[in-house]
Amino acid sequence: MFVKSRYSNGVTAFIDDCIDAPHMFSTRCGGISSLPHLVSLNLGEGRGDTPENVKENFNRFLGVRGMRFGDLVRSKQIHSTNVKVVTRADAGSFFEDCDGFVTKETGVVLCVKVADCAPILLYDGKNKVIGALHAGWKGSCRGIAKEGVRAMESLGARPENIKAAIGACIHSCCYEVGQDFLSTVIACMGREAAMEYVKYKEDTRLYADIVGMNCRYLQNCGVKKENISVCDYCTCCHPELFFSHRYSHGLRGTMCAVISL
Ligand SMILES: [Zn+2]
Repeated sequence: MFVKSRYSNGVTAFIDDCIDAPHMFSTRCGGISSLPHLVSLNLGEGRGDTPENVKENFNRFLGVRGMRFGDLVRSKQIHSTNVKVVTRADAGSFFEDCDGFVTKETGVVLCVKVADCAPILLYDGKNKVIGALHAGWKGSCRGIAKEGVRAMESLGARPENIKAAIGACIHSCCYEVGQDFLSTVIACMGREAAMEYVKYKEDTRLYADIVGMNCRYLQNCGVKKENISVCDYCTCCHPELFFSHRYSHGLRGTMCAVISL
């Protein structure tokens, strides 16, 4: 179950109490960024913020769990289904070519950035393997969730042990999509799944359920339904709590999900 907490330094973040490893999903609350679209916990470079602000925001956010900025692995996030196996030696690295990480080592913090896309954290407590995935619309359609579970299996994890937490993202109430989205879902998941996760409202407007799509991929590769937690919040419905690309028409800050062993 997702729990929202406000920490003594002002940072507000979510955790999933089913995951027994240090992890967090950030919100926009508790940082020092002052530009209106970045207020206040912006964790993204290149959004109009100063590097010093972003670094300080990371320090505040990570400090809640005793994590360090220098231990992060991050990536450019190219809407791929590439998931990289990393080790302690990769701590502090930035990769150009993937949208997720898995590891079985301590001393490295897996990090994905989001603002409407779904952040997914994975944890096999028995075999001590973790994962962090960025599931935007393409990753949700093409199954980055499946690739994440496979990458964890390559490190000894078992799907039946994996707990999955899908953080706040844009939900089907707000996620209007186009015909290209529907075509991609049909091509990747089949027509039956497309009918389930992409629906018409008001006759002509299409709305997509990326949470449902990711849950389907997770369950199809053996993750138990009861081991999947979903954060109920829609980012676009709660602009006071989250950065939302759709709500802000692209003028927004960035949130992160992090996990380590
Ligand atoms: Zn909504």
